[in-house]
Amino acid sequence: MTFKVAIIGRPNVGKSTLFNRLVGRKLALVDDTPGVTRDRRVHAAKLYDLHFDVIDTAGFEDAAASTLPGRMRAQTEIAIREADLIFFTIDAKSGLMPDDKTFAEIVRKSGKPVVVVANKAEARGAQGGMLEAWELGLGEPIPVSAEHGQGLPDLRDAVIAALGEARAFGEEEEDADEETAASEVLIGEDITDPDAEPSYDDTKPMRIAVVGRPNAGKSTLINALIGEERLLTGPEAGITRDSISVDWDWHGRRLKLFDTAGMRRKARIHEKLEVMSVQDGLRAIRFAEIVIIVLDATIPFEKQDLQIADLIIREGRAPVIAFNKWDMIDHPQELLAELREKTERLLPQARGMQAVPVSAETGRGLDKLMDAVIRTHRVWNSRVSTGKLNRWLEGILAHHPPPAVAGRRLKIKYVTQAKTRPPGFVVSCSRPDAMPQSYVRYLSNSLREAFDMPGVPIRIALRTSD
Ligand code: GDP
Ligand code: GDP
Repeated sequence: MTFKVAIIGRPNVGKSTLFNRLVGRKLALVDDTPGVTRDRRVHAAKLYDLHFDVIDTAGFEDAAASTLPGRMRAQTEIAIREADLIFFTIDAKSGLMPDDKTFAEIVRKSGKPVVVVANKAEARGAQGGMLEAWELGLGEPIPVSAEHGQGLPDLRDAVIAALGEARAFGEEEEDADEETAASEVLIGEDITDPDAEPSYDDTKPMRIAVVGRPNAGKSTLINALIGEERLLTGPEAGITRDSISVDWDWHGRRLKLFDTAGMRRKARIHEKLEVMSVQDGLRAIRFAEIVIIVLDATIPFEKQDLQIADLIIREGRAPVIAFNKWDMIDHPQELLAELREKTERLLPQARGMQAVPVSAETGRGLDKLMDAVIRTHRVWNSRVSTGKLNRWLEGILAHHPPPAVAGRRLKIKYVTQAKTRPPGFVVSCSRPDAMPQSYVRYLSNSLREAFDMPGVPIRIALRTSD
């Protein structure tokens, strides 16, 4: 069996760069803007003749450091706990910082084998940082340049020295460190009626489901979003077989995710997957407030995708589209314009729907996706005052009044918002039965425009005014 390596260190020492170097792919994870990389990922990596898995924690700290030091520490600890070997990375160019010592302390306490990677060793002045790294007391620093691919043979030797040949080359039995069992990951959910909560309350967990065709990338997306955070939240009582949810938080916003096939697959429940996924999808849609529709951007908008979207809208839930596998797209700008145009054309029921290109595999776009989810949730919860609605109605009646039917003009007297989640309006009019559907659609589009409610279903009920 292969071993797992966690790359640990304070932000900016070059963990992502090293990760990419080991994984041997341009994952586009490195960026100087904080918060570009995010959740932990595990990828197959290679260092000459050594084959192992590497856990990436890079970037998490940048985003979390200012607000959630505890969480950053928890994530680091999870990575360490899961790892067989730690690459404790420092920046030899800048030398040791107080944070290096904090991280080193965590690593030391874990008692796991460590290799100290003195990165940026090719830079001028790196020699000083190299020497300082001895002070960490974690052993000999190995000078490496992740960016330029230097020092890797020494790193290989250091790995073998730290683990021993047998382990490094996978000749030893894996210890019974099983994957997290399904029962630990999946927790039961008591289902309350989403309509029971009339006003927007962002302290309650937002309920999200992820749906899409098989192979669109749902499991990958969910894992990228949640990473190992589910281990932080832990299981709750009342595990049920048919409703699956997990709590996590995104930059402090509490979320509850309902998963369908994704987690089941992770839990290795293969039986009847196809049959279940339709049923589960439906159930998840009903329980959720926001439904992320994962589309494979290389084959978007198959009939089934449109059916799912239509179902979500009819159920009164708010859809957000993730155009996944964006890393495989050659002309992203052109394609995005085309796909957004298609979205508007094929799904006019929820005009202005959020549609975000993402790569579940690299983590790109996940921030934007979650921003879109949160924004859509807000719109879904929005309420317009009766005063504003009736001022809007005056304008409508002046410029585009209802048509005459059988020689008699239809009259609208009054509009009020009867509900939220999704926004629902009651229109009092003279002859509801005679009102053409096209005019109701016009009202709903106009409401959407006037009160800035893109991408959510809008319900209109007609009522006799006297
Ligand atoms: P992390 O997120 O803390 O793991 O750090 P990154 O991998 O994002 O790297 C932080 C910065 O250091 C980026 O600007 C990298 O280009 C730069 N960097 C990474 N490795 C090296 C290296 O070996 N040499 C030099 N000079 N710069 C590096
Ligand atoms: P699911 O059936 O919808 O849960 O799909 P999976 O998450 O199992 O993904 C199906 C396949 O697509 C797997 O081989 C993934 O590695 C791959 N995949 C998922 N997301 C991406 C992505 O963003 N880019 C690329 N290139 N492949 C992806």
